[in-house]
Amino acid sequence: MARPKKPVHERIDRLTQQHDGHLLWKGQMRRGKPHLDRVGNPVRVLLGLADHPTIQVRPCCPEKHPNCINPHHWRVIVEKSRIYDDAPPPNWSDPRSGFSNRDLIEIEENLELLQNNEITVEDLDMLPAHIKAEILVRGSGPL
Ligand SMILES: [Zn+2]
Repeated sequence: MARPKKPVHERIDRLTQQHDGHLLWKGQMRRGKPHLDRVGNPVRVLLGLADHPTIQVRPCCPEKHPNCINPHHWRVIVEKSRIYDDAPPPNWSDPRSGFSNRDLIEIEENLELLQNNEITVEDLDMLPAHIKAEILVRGSGPL
């Protein structure tokens, strides 16, 4: 009889180690990236992306640890459909932010409009308050 499979989060837990704000992967590497059998990059599990194969991730660890899988040290690339402009974005919620993917797209679009002076801060009043607040926070940081 096959042994029951360990839940994947548990496997990842056992193979990682906290280190100064980084989450270092002690498991195998493949092509320079953390790799877990049948899963691929374990950070995808931590980001809730296991079922979203079309969404890409890129490392952005501030100290460039090749084996860091702190979800905050990865950039998630959600591309809008190139073919259908109005295709809905993938139904993924970023577990790091508390914002849904749709919220995040709205935030990014409005931030861009704001920075290009195509809309004003007052125009943001028509958005939900937590979205407006996030746009202002991002807009005030280094660009
Ligand atoms: Zn890191």
